[in-house]
Amino acid sequence: RPTQSARSDGPSHAVLQEFLDEMQAENIRQHLRKFTRLPHLAGTEQNLRLAERIRDEWLRYGLDSAEIVHYDVLLSYPNETKPNYISVVDDAGNEVFNSSLSEPVPEGYEDVPNIVPPYSAFSAKGQPEGDMVYVNYGRTEDFFLLQRDMGVNCSGKIVIARYGKIFRGNKVKNAILAGAKGIILFSDPADYCAPGVRPYPDGWNLPGGGAQRGNVLNLNGAGDPLTPGYPAKEYTYRYRTDEGAGLPSIPVHPIGYNDAAVLLRCVCVLHLRYRYLLIDFTLFSLTLIFRMNIHTINRVTRIYNVIGKIRGAVEPDRYIILGGHRDAWVFGGIDPSTGAAVVHETVRSAGTLVGRGWRPRRTIIFASWDAEEFGLLGSTEWAEEHAKILQERAVAYINADSAIEGMYTLRVDCVPSLHTLVYDVTKKISSPDEDGVSLYDSWHKKDNWTDDRDAPRISKLGSGSDFEAYFIRLGIASGRARYTKNTKTEKYSSYPVYHSVYETFELVERFYDPSFRKLLAVAQVRGALVLRLADSPLLPLDCTEYADALAKYARAIAEAARKHPDELLEYRVSFDALFSAVDNFTAAATSFHERGEHVTSNTVAMEVRMANDQLMYLERAFVDPLGLPGRPFYRHIIFAPSSHNKYAGESFPGIYDALFDIQNAPRPDKAWEEVKRQISIAAFTVHAAAMTLNPTA
Ligand code: GLU
Ligand code: CA
Ligand code: ZN
Ligand code: ZN
Repeated sequence: RPTQSARSDGPSHAVLQEFLDEMQAENIRQHLRKFTRLPHLAGTEQNLRLAERIRDEWLRYGLDSAEIVHYDVLLSYPNETKPNYISVVDDAGNEVFNSSLSEPVPEGYEDVPNIVPPYSAFSAKGQPEGDMVYVNYGRTEDFFLLQRDMGVNCSGKIVIARYGKIFRGNKVKNAILAGAKGIILFSDPADYCAPGVRPYPDGWNLPGGGAQRGNVLNLNGAGDPLTPGYPAKEYTYRYRTDEGAGLPSIPVHPIGYNDAAVLLRCVCVLHLRYRYLLIDFTLFSLTLIFRMNIHTINRVTRIYNVIGKIRGAVEPDRYIILGGHRDAWVFGGIDPSTGAAVVHETVRSAGTLVGRGWRPRRTIIFASWDAEEFGLLGSTEWAEEHAKILQERAVAYINADSAIEGMYTLRVDCVPSLHTLVYDVTKKISSPDEDGVSLYDSWHKKDNWTDDRDAPRISKLGSGSDFEAYFIRLGIASGRARYTKNTKTEKYSSYPVYHSVYETFELVERFYDPSFRKLLAVAQVRGALVLRLADSPLLPLDCTEYADALAKYARAIAEAARKHPDELLEYRVSFDALFSAVDNFTAAATSFHERGEHVTSNTVAMEVRMANDQLMYLERAFVDPLGLPGRPFYRHIIFAPSSHNKYAGESFPGIYDALFDIQNAPRPDKAWEEVKRQISIAAFTVHAAAMTLNPTA
C-alpha cells in the first residue's frame, strides 16, 4: 500500500499481538485463587488489605503510578446482635417457623470468619406483620395485573416476590408504590436451577439453603445516598440518613427456596381458607400471620478505590479507563473476582510491555472500584470528584465486572460507536470453544444479530455496574464484555449462585471454566479494546454505527407511538423532527467517516487530533445537562437504564417513559404534551450531536 490508513495503522498491530500473547490463562487462575480466599465486603478490613495488595502488585507489574483513593459513603450491614429473619406466628404469638439465619457454608470454608448472612442492603428497619401476597417477579406488569385485572390490594400487606427478570431495587420500589409494608425476595428454582444440573458443590445450581444478597436502592445514578453530585470526602456536606437518595422506606429480606416453600404453602393455605397446615411435621390450625424482623443498620463507612496509570506518550491528556469492582458479597468467586482477575492480568501484560520500552499513545487508567455492590458507590464518587477532567479528556470507559455468567458464548453491550472495534478485535482473538476458530466466528455462529444484520449480536448498555456514571452521567463511550449463557433462555436472572456464599473459586474452576480459556478470551477482548483505543492514531470510534442505531431507535419509538393513532392526530404528535435530525446525523456521520478514510500516517498531527476530539466529544453531545425527568443524574438522551429495570437499557428513554401506560394517564392532554416535549428534546439533541461532526470551519 502506498499510504496506510491511520484507521488501522499505528504501532498497535504488532504491539496488540504481543499484548494478547502475554496474557496467560494460568495467571488468571492464580489471580482468581488469591482474590477469593476470604470475603471482601466493602467497608471491611479485608477489602482494604486487598486494595493495598492490588496497588502494590500493579506497581510491581510496571504501572507508572498506583494509588488508593478513599471516600466516606453510606453502607449497610446486618446488626450483629439482632439477626434478620422472617417468621410465621400463630394466634398465641408463638413463632412457629423462622427463616434461616445463614447459608450452610461450603466444605473447606467452615472456619472462614466474617461471612455476612444474606440480607438486603439498605433495607428499612422494622417488624411489620400481617397477611402476605405473592407478586410474581414484582415487575410493573405484575403489579398492574394484580391491581387492575385481579383486584388484589397490596396495601398494608407484606409482599413476596421471586428474584429474576429485573433489578431487585425496582421490585422494592414497585412494592412501596403498591402500599406494601414489607417485601420478601426469594430465589425460585424455576429461575435459579438449570434443568439436569445438581446444586453446588455437585453442580452449579443454587442449593435450597442459598440466598441472594444485594442492595435494594433506587439511586437513579446518584452514587453515595448522602452526597449526590459531590465526592464523599471529609469536607463534604452530608444529608441526614432519612433524606438520603434512593433509600427504601420498608423492610426487605432475601430467602432461599427451602424457606420460600414453607412461606408460600402458608400463603396458599391461608388464602384458600383451608383449616390446617403442616410445617416441619407439626400440624397447626389456622390463624397464622407473617412477621419480618429486620434490624439492618446504615452507617457511613470508608471505602477504597485503587487507581493505576500508564502515562500516554503522545496524548497524555486523553484517557482510556478500564474499571471494575473489587468488593464482593462473600468470596466473589464470579462476581467480581473473575473481572478483577482479568484486569489484573491485563495490567500485568500492559506493564510488561512498558517494561520493554513501549508506551501507549494515550493514558490508560486502571481502576479497582469499591462498594459497587452498595450502589456503584466507589466508581460514582470517583467520577464525581474528577467530573471536570473526565468530561474534557476521557475517550472511553471499558467495564470489568464478572467476566463470566455462563459457558456458551461472548456477550457484549456497548455504545454503537464501539461496534466496529468489537468486531475487529474479536477476529484477532482465538475462540475458547473451538481450536483454530476466531472468537468472532464462534460467537457469530452461536448468537447472530437477529433480523436486520448478519453479525454477532451486540446489545445496548443498561446499568447495574460501574460504567453507569461514566456513560449515562458524563457521556463517555462505554462497553462491557463477558462470557454468557445461551441468551435464548434468560437475560437478567444472572447465574444460579449469584451473590450467595457458593460463589467460590471452585465454582469457576470445576464448572464454569476449568481451562480458564474463557476468562482468557474475555481478558483479551477487554484488553484489546483498551489497547486499540489507547494506541490507534485515529480513534477507532465509528460514528456511522451510531447513525444506524439512532435510525433504528427512532423507528422503534415512533412505531410504539402508533399504537395510539387517534391521540397522535388529536394532539398533533409528530416524529418528523426526530427523523429529520437522524437524517442530518447520518449525513454528517457518513461524510465525517469518509474524511477519516483520508487520514494517513502523513496527516498533520493537529488534524488527526481535531478529528479525534470530534469523535471523543460525540458521546458527550448526547448529554443533556438538565437530565431526564425526575432523574437528574441520568443525562444521556439516547440511552438510560429502564425505569422498570435498572439492568436493561432503554433507547430514547425520555420519549419511552412519556409514552408508557399513557392510555391510563389521568390527564391525557398533559401526558401527550410531555410526549411532544420529549420528542423535541430528542430531536434537538440528535441534531446538535450531528453538528459536532461537521467540518469545524
Ligand atoms: N451489581 C450490583 C447488583 O446488581 C449493584 C447494582 C446497582 O446498584 O446498580 O446488585
Ligand atoms: Ca457523592
Ligand atoms: Zn454483584
Ligand atoms: Zn459485580
